[in-house]
Amino acid sequence: MRFLLSFVLLTSLCVGQDAAKLAEDPAIKAALEAIKKNEPHFIEEQVRICEIPAPPFKEEVRGKELERLFKEAGLQNVRIDKAGNVIGVRPGAAAHPNVVFAAHLDTVFPEGTDVHVKREGTVLKGPGIGDDCRGLVVMLGVIRALNEAKVKTPGTITFVADTGEEGLGDLRGIKNLFNDSLKGQIDKFISVDGTGLSVTNVGVGSYRYRVTFKGPGGHSFGAFGMVNPIQAMGRAIAKIDAFDVPTSPKTTFNVGRVGGGTSVNAIPFECWMEVDMRSSDKNSLESVNTKFKNAVKEAVEEENRRWKRGSITADPELVGLRPAGSTSADSGIVITAVAVSKLFGFSGNLGEGSTDSNVPMNLGIPAVTIGGGGRGMEAHALTESFDTKDSHLGTQRALLLVTALTR
Ligand SMILES: [Zn+2]
Repeated sequence: MRFLLSFVLLTSLCVGQDAAKLAEDPAIKAALEAIKKNEPHFIEEQVRICEIPAPPFKEEVRGKELERLFKEAGLQNVRIDKAGNVIGVRPGAAAHPNVVFAAHLDTVFPEGTDVHVKREGTVLKGPGIGDDCRGLVVMLGVIRALNEAKVKTPGTITFVADTGEEGLGDLRGIKNLFNDSLKGQIDKFISVDGTGLSVTNVGVGSYRYRVTFKGPGGHSFGAFGMVNPIQAMGRAIAKIDAFDVPTSPKTTFNVGRVGGGTSVNAIPFECWMEVDMRSSDKNSLESVNTKFKNAVKEAVEEENRRWKRGSITADPELVGLRPAGSTSADSGIVITAVAVSKLFGFSGNLGEGSTDSNVPMNLGIPAVTIGGGGRGMEAHALTESFDTKDSHLGTQRALLLVTALTR
């Protein structure tokens, strides 16, 4: 144990020193300076990209623009895969390690949302300006700075502007990347998501369902004695409410929406509920999912036993599945991310979240999600804003981290 501990400390010290040494490398130094110099240009770019709408499942136009920018920046083999991910390669001396650097194209905002960006001093206001237009321009800033300073990396960096990170997009872009377009070719993964200086090494997974309960329906007085879908659903909700879940690892459940029924004086023929369950621990997530399925089944059986006329059916439709996972705090990628963050004066505190990194984390591929710098407020709201003060530090940290990981 003592040996293990000192080994971990030693590794962390070495990686920290390596990162500091790397920051002193003349080419890297020049790249970091280029980022600072070019930041005003990238702030312009961030505004321009934000004003190209990218509603859920409709990222193509913004994706086309990223494809153009990837080509313009000299990336190789630039292409769009079948999930709409824009992929471009910056080859290193060797094909491996192949580090994927990703940021998501999509926003949570529906079609028709006014995405114009307003400026007040250093603050930009517009839906999606931080999450994740910041990540997209950090990615572009890193590519341009590496080129400008002619940085040669030992391994290869594959840049990806991905689709479907938000909501019911259900990580479809990154799932496709790992299961199809770059299957078996990714050694390490970084995503830049949103703003600030965070390092996320725990991926909170989730199951989301829409459950529809159905019965024959009838008159509230005339058909009294008939099974009732809403009353069956009420039984299910009461059972869900009584679930005993661990506080650590934090595991949660929520019945978020319900609907259905015909009239106050009708036994309904249909109703529905939407349920969300989350945990950063695979087993706890599976366990609460099993309890949920049993609760629905038992509720239907109880309702059918209670009223012998007619019968209820329930159909739980899976509308969201984000796999859970984590990258150990002792792993090289997390130690490097923390060391690099500290070089820029950031705390390097670790956090948890639900991001593109969930997918590689679940597959056991080293992954972290980092913030893109600056200060973001009210992400996912129409009032979202981004303070650009010292935002270049976020891009500098990302560049140093990705280059360190190609070693
Ligand atoms: Zn995001």
